Amino acid sequence: ADHVVPPEDMVSESRDERAGLDKIRLEARLRDAIDNHTLDVRYQPIYDIAEGRVSGYEALVRWQLPDRGAVSPAEFIKLAEETSLIVPVGEYVLDRVLEVLTALRDAGTTPLPSIAVNLSARQLVEPGMASQIVARTQRAHLPPGALKLEITESRMLDYTPVAAVMAHCREHGIPFALDDFGTGYSNLTHLHKLDFEFIKVDQAFARHMFDSPRAMAIVNAIVAMAHGIGAYVVVEGVETHDQLQRLRALGVRYAQGYLIGQAQPASSVLSGEAGRGLQ
Ligand code: C2E
Ligand code: CA
Ligand code: CA
Ligand code: CA
Repeated sequence: ADHVVPPEDMVSESRDERAGLDKIRLEARLRDAIDNHTLDVRYQPIYDIAEGRVSGYEALVRWQLPDRGAVSPAEFIKLAEETSLIVPVGEYVLDRVLEVLTALRDAGTTPLPSIAVNLSARQLVEPGMASQIVARTQRAHLPPGALKLEITESRMLDYTPVAAVMAHCREHGIPFALDDFGTGYSNLTHLHKLDFEFIKVDQAFARHMFDSPRAMAIVNAIVAMAHGIGAYVVVEGVETHDQLQRLRALGVRYAQGYLIGQAQPASSVLSGEAGRGLQ
């Protein structure tokens, strides 16, 4: 017969293979993007509510593919974590951030803004990662607090090695933020077992602050708790002046979101344009 129709199970098998192949191709292209410096790092301003100015940025990686458009970090960070690529991705982002901080310092920018880099706890305990971070940061001769690390965690981890690595970084002037607090695995046990200078409240809470009195009460309770453990609160996803005003009344120190600004290229940070914040 000219046309042999493959049995069902063979069809689905080849579909799996194709998915596997896509992943391998994507992995190779991600490696190219790292090697060719085509991964983009964007900077989203963070607003100090108490001081009324943009005091720092969060570095957010973007991967633009000519044939696929932007691949969300949610997709390729997961892919990178499944492979050994998460280490070079982390180093790449860190190096870009240190370049920006060094350039700002050399230009005499005072006060020097801080820039936060996202790391999964798994990335943080990757052998050699912490010593790389510390070595690269020391080489840049930056003041303490210029570089921050935001810890995102999808799975539970053994706290002991995480705490040890955090203590090592902190000794070298690198503070930590617990990301996406209030969702997923970002929970009270993390705050109990680990020492964070900042707690980032997930954007779901800001989004529902006005339609749900409970969301408001939760933000209020997080502020009280943060005060008790000596951490600052950063609320993410702030999109309106009403939200910002309410956060100020609740005693929240920092706000981040589209009201203050979207993630912008390094050039806007270097020109100071990205830090203009609220007008
Ligand atoms: P995240 O750390 O929670 O980052 C905040 C995300 O919320 C960003 O999405 C940002 O663009 C978005 N966002 C900020 N303000 C607003 C707002 O007012 N409204 C709304 N609707 N959204 C807002 P993005 O850039 O897609 O990042 C997604 C996640 O990818 C990040 O979540 C972070 O966990 C991860 N990620 C990004 N860069 C890196 C990285 O360099 N390394 C690692 N390990 N993860 C990264
Ligand atoms: Ca983050
Ligand atoms: Ca977050
Ligand atoms: Ca997130």
